[in-house]
Amino acid sequence: MKRAAPAALVLLLAGCVSAPQDAPAPRAAPRAPPTVTAPAPTPPPPAPLPPPRFEVSGTASQGGLMLGTAPEGTVELLKDGTPVALAADRRFVIAFDRDAGPASVLTARLSDGRTATHQISVAPRAWRIERLDRVAKVPVPSADFQRRRPAELVQIEAARGRNQAAEGWRQRIIWPVTGRVSGLFGAQRIYRGEPGSYHSGVDVARPTGTPVVAPADGVVVLAADTPFTLEGNLLIIDHGMGLNSAFLHLSRIDVPVGSRVRQGQMVGAIGATGRASGPHLHWAMKWQDARIDPLLIAGPMPGPGAD
Ligand SMILES: [Zn+2]
Repeated sequence: MKRAAPAALVLLLAGCVSAPQDAPAPRAAPRAPPTVTAPAPTPPPPAPLPPPRFEVSGTASQGGLMLGTAPEGTVELLKDGTPVALAADRRFVIAFDRDAGPASVLTARLSDGRTATHQISVAPRAWRIERLDRVAKVPVPSADFQRRRPAELVQIEAARGRNQAAEGWRQRIIWPVTGRVSGLFGAQRIYRGEPGSYHSGVDVARPTGTPVVAPADGVVVLAADTPFTLEGNLLIIDHGMGLNSAFLHLSRIDVPVGSRVRQGQMVGAIGATGRASGPHLHWAMKWQDARIDPLLIAGPMPGPGAD
């Protein structure tokens, strides 16, 4: 091939010079002043599409929460096949259940038909497990409990399903109260080999009447000040995008259903209503159906009460 190139060049040149010999040379036109003409603009090649990129930060572990930005052009976002709400600026929040598996995948469907995926390794946690070999699992629930409980669960489910337009999910979540952490999320008792349900929130022990503030902006979706059998006076705040907080055993609730609360605003006070052995705040957080660890999300307890 390399040798053929000069020959082809010669032929080409020969062709060029021979043309005037075959045909009479056209009469030379009067010389126009030389003009500088710009080379014909060549259309720019189509810009290569940037590879779709996810930005995700936070705690990739069981009970953890992450904030992210979906790739440009995302029209639908899924986490492990389940739709995830996406804000207009493509920001989103996801979280991992206490018992989440080791891998999670985000999938973005883009407006140009492409699909982008992002793999997340979900670190396991070592939950506090207590084995009680002399205690039976659950005392038989009272007739009163069995009668009242179904309606309470319906109310809680309905409240948590009432997705509100709130922006608290974007904020750095703060502790609703500071003090000694007296119960950890995820802790579980095993009674004579039979596992009880794990502790669904974090407990902070403080005297009755201690103010409780909103850990993030949100909308009040449940304010049960007639005590529920287990939760007592129960307050649930929706932080938007499927993220919510529940506060149990309150002595007082200061905010009505439907009201908007700001991060740091007083919403109620610690108590010992419902099933509680003493005054404390039980703070539970959920994202969609995932139960998550408030301590992991709010960070180490600040102040001298830190555990
Ligand atoms: Zn608790």
